[in-house]
This record gives sequence, structure tokens and C-alpha cells, in this order.
Amino acid sequence: MTMLSLTGVRTNYGPIEALRGVDVTVNQGEIVTLIGANGAGKSTLLMTICGNPKPAAGSIVFEGQDIVSLPPHETARLGIAQVPEGRRIFPRMTVFENLQLGGTLADPAHFEADLDYCYGLFPILKQRREQRAGTLSGGEQQMLAISRALMSRPRLLLLDEPSLGLAPLIIRRIFDVIAELNRSRGMTILLVEQNAYHALKLAHRAYVLQQGLVVMQGPGPELLANPEVRAAYLEGG
Ligand code: ATP
Repeated sequence: MTMLSLTGVRTNYGPIEALRGVDVTVNQGEIVTLIGANGAGKSTLLMTICGNPKPAAGSIVFEGQDIVSLPPHETARLGIAQVPEGRRIFPRMTVFENLQLGGTLADPAHFEADLDYCYGLFPILKQRREQRAGTLSGGEQQMLAISRALMSRPRLLLLDEPSLGLAPLIIRRIFDVIAELNRSRGMTILLVEQNAYHALKLAHRAYVLQQGLVVMQGPGPELLANPEVRAAYLEGG
């Protein structure tokens, strides 16, 4: 069943056409990956789904509802959670307080169980729960950012470059968790990555964005085996 569909989406920053008519769908229970070079429009696509910036044209339908005119707090309320590039945790608040904030949209009855679930996924966060988030390593901050999003009980999780700048061992853990969330909780995930190898391996379906357009799409493993994709995005990978 289609959960999210973008049709003919165009997003501009002044004269810059970041998205030039993009069609993307995400079905319930899928991991969909978006790959593409720097500046291809990947982050803009995720942000446009959330409601800022607004597209100049096109439609975005989430679970049957047109969400194009909704601001980010409304799309969040509908169950779309974004883990933005650069994580954006609250550095002066503790790990626990960050998670508490993440949970404000969810039913408080689930709070303890959800907290335990996140601490189970990333035990280091439990150990560091009273520590200020700004003192965590980059990998731990990414774990916190993902956990904070999970605390809102999202229906759709948007992840923007979760592996950026992290050590290989941590990257592996993050991708394992993404797969696990999908497998055990049926979480629907739209993942943006420059780390094309891991991201395509994991994806049920994937899209390649180039200069604001979808230039290729297909099952993740199929794109992973595609010579053009390999040459463009997997050199040395
Ligand atoms: P990256 O991996 O570098 O984040 P991306 O694929 O996510 O790349 P976007 O960040 O969506 O690409 O950028 C798409 C285009 O829009 C680029 O040309 C970029 O320079 C431009 N752009 C992005 N954000 C803004 C902004 N706030 N103002 C003006 N132009 C922007």
C-alpha cells in the first residue's frame, strides 16, 4: 500500500531549481533509499516532504492526505519524523531530556517502553543518559538523533545521511539498526545516503537523483549491481 507519493514536485531556492519535477513513492513497510551526488536535491526532497521549503509545484500525499500545504509541526503530528543531516540534537540538554522532548508528540503511556526500546537499540545512550548531549561522540549523537525521532512513534522515518562522518564500525551499527527497525517493527523508512553501498544493500527500492531529477529507480540490489551506478556512486566502495 502506498504510504507517501510525490508527483511532479518542484522546489526552488530563489532562482535555484533544487527539485525539477520529482516522482517518488514509498510503500508501507519499505526501506526506500535516495542516492545522488552533492547538491542533487536529496536533502531538499526530505525537507519538502516535511513542509519547509514548500514546493512551487506538484503534489505530496501521505496516507491519503494532501500534505503540501502543511507546516513541519503538522506533518510531524501526522507521523513523519525527520533525522536531519548534522543531527541537530540539543547539546546542552542531557541524553534523557533529548529523548523526553522526542516523546512529546507520542502518548505518554508508551514513554517508558519506548525509552527502553531505544536504550536496547543503543545501550551506550542508557549509560550516558545524564550526560549533556553535546559531549557525546558523533556516532553517539547520531544514535541519539535517531532515538529521539523514534520516541515520537513515527509512521514514516526520514533519515538524512545518517552515516556522514562516522567511523566504519559505527556506520555498520547504524545500518543494522535501520534494518532491524524495518524488520521487527515494520517501520517505513526513506533514507538519503552518500554511502551508496550500504544504503542500496538495505533498500527494497531506490532512486538516483541527479540535478533535481530522478534518473534511475529500481530494487536496491538491482541498482547496486548496475554498472552506471557503480561507476558514479561506488568508485572504490
Ligand atoms: P548534499 O549531499 O550536499 O546535502 P543534496 O543532494 O542533499 O546534497 P540539496 O542540499 O538538496 O542537495 O541541494 C540541492 C540544490 O539546492 C543545490 O544546488 C544547493 O546548493 C541548493 N540549496 C540547498 N539549500 C539551499 C538554500 N537554503 N538556499 C539556496 N540554495 C540551496
